[in-house]
Amino acid sequence: MTQYEIVVGLETHIQLNTETKIFCSCKADSWGAEPNTNICPVCSGLPGVLPVLNAEAVQKAALLAAAMHAEINPISYFDRKNYFYPDLPKGYQITQFDEPIGKGGYLDVHMPDGSTRRVHIHKLHLEEDAGKTKIEAGRRLVDFNRCGVPLVEMVTEPELHSGEEAAQYLTELRQLLRWIGVSEADMERGHLRCDANVSIREAGSTVLNTKTEIKNMNSIESIRQAITLEAQRQIAAVEAGERVESYTLDWDADTGTLRKMRSKETEADYRYFREPDLLPVKLSEEEIKYIKSIFVEPGEVTPPQPSHDLKSKDISFGVSISKPTLTQIESPYNRKMRFIAEYQLSTYDADILTSERSLSDYFEEAVRLSSAAPKTVSNWMMNDLLRLMNDLGKSASELRLRPTDLAEIIGLVESGKISPATGKALLKKVEESGQKPAEIVAAEGLGLIGDEDALRSQIAAVLSESPNEVASFRAGKESLLGWFVGQVMRRTGGKADPKRTRELLLEMLKK
Ligand SMILES: [Zn+2]
Repeated sequence: MTQYEIVVGLETHIQLNTETKIFCSCKADSWGAEPNTNICPVCSGLPGVLPVLNAEAVQKAALLAAAMHAEINPISYFDRKNYFYPDLPKGYQITQFDEPIGKGGYLDVHMPDGSTRRVHIHKLHLEEDAGKTKIEAGRRLVDFNRCGVPLVEMVTEPELHSGEEAAQYLTELRQLLRWIGVSEADMERGHLRCDANVSIREAGSTVLNTKTEIKNMNSIESIRQAITLEAQRQIAAVEAGERVESYTLDWDADTGTLRKMRSKETEADYRYFREPDLLPVKLSEEEIKYIKSIFVEPGEVTPPQPSHDLKSKDISFGVSISKPTLTQIESPYNRKMRFIAEYQLSTYDADILTSERSLSDYFEEAVRLSSAAPKTVSNWMMNDLLRLMNDLGKSASELRLRPTDLAEIIGLVESGKISPATGKALLKKVEESGQKPAEIVAAEGLGLIGDEDALRSQIAAVLSESPNEVASFRAGKESLLGWFVGQVMRRTGGKADPKRTRELLLEMLKK
């Protein structure tokens, strides 16, 4: 039986989270807005208007290029891609063709089996988004709100070999985009879109056979399923003696099926030419060096810094960079490996704690402020803080409970001033009230009873209520000790210091 290899290349469109659109001052993000309310003469393509390039879009694209290890082009150009579509009012799209902002580059994808696959990208370019159309009550409606939203397009080489690998690539790309702060990368909102080119070949062969293109996959799960399904279909077709034809397939997430759409245009059909209304984008050697220096390579790790989002004022292009204000960014993978080495975290814990940059910053800050072991801080975050964040639908940076509060709560528990259960409850109380943990403990009398006389009288009361158990214990049934501790806890509403209680119980029972 013939063995087949699946060959997948991904074409991703990333919506940059800039303030405004790429060539006008309309808001870039108009999710949920009424159709055609976030437009102006520039982005709706009225005659006689001129585009003005948004510097923030260039900065974020360059930052992404550096994060993807791409070569940043000192001079890049915008081009017109000519085609007609109802949601493209100008009749052309402004994009970058042969001299894009980034060339080459790669993303290392870490597979669940521990292997790493380096996936190269051909280029990275800036372009404007088009609008969208929909059919309603037999009429075709067009919404230009998305026209002019800044996008970065990245196309991978055909170096992925399963739906699983493609899904992992997207997962790590999404994490990177959020981590470096260039995109919200929310697939459901279209911030991160992906088309897949799929073909098959005999295992061991290096030829590239006819491919099909899958569109409209708006979740990572869809990508995994659609590619797997399409590869199976191609293998079945070839096994049945048929040929794979080149066409575009539409993924229907509701039914989990692929539908044939149309045959694909070739690049020659677009009649690219230089955009005459825009100047070339020039980046000086100093600027390029600076952008590249933002990323920390393994072995040159700097002390952790609080998250710092890229703002347009931080670097300005076309003028010299006099005061670099961006903090260095450690990649998610490097930070994960450092957490494992430096804090002795398990791979599982390190994976989760570095899933978002703000969460990993939170952890490091709490570790720095806490006298407890990093593993203890990790346990509190993994077990309790993440649950709280999940319940509230908040990210780490949105919590009122700051790392200093978490460190304080852990300290109160570790020093025996409050019980672990009280500590857990405190997380929520601090989050809700914004008060300091120690203030709440004092105000609500949550502190443990460590005072010897107070404890002795509670224990004495328990012992006099339970003469049979006391007799059994004294007759040798020492396993009853835990039961006595439980009784004291119940009497004191969980506020007895458990360690001291055990000691005093042993002493008083043995009399
Ligand atoms: Zn506009």
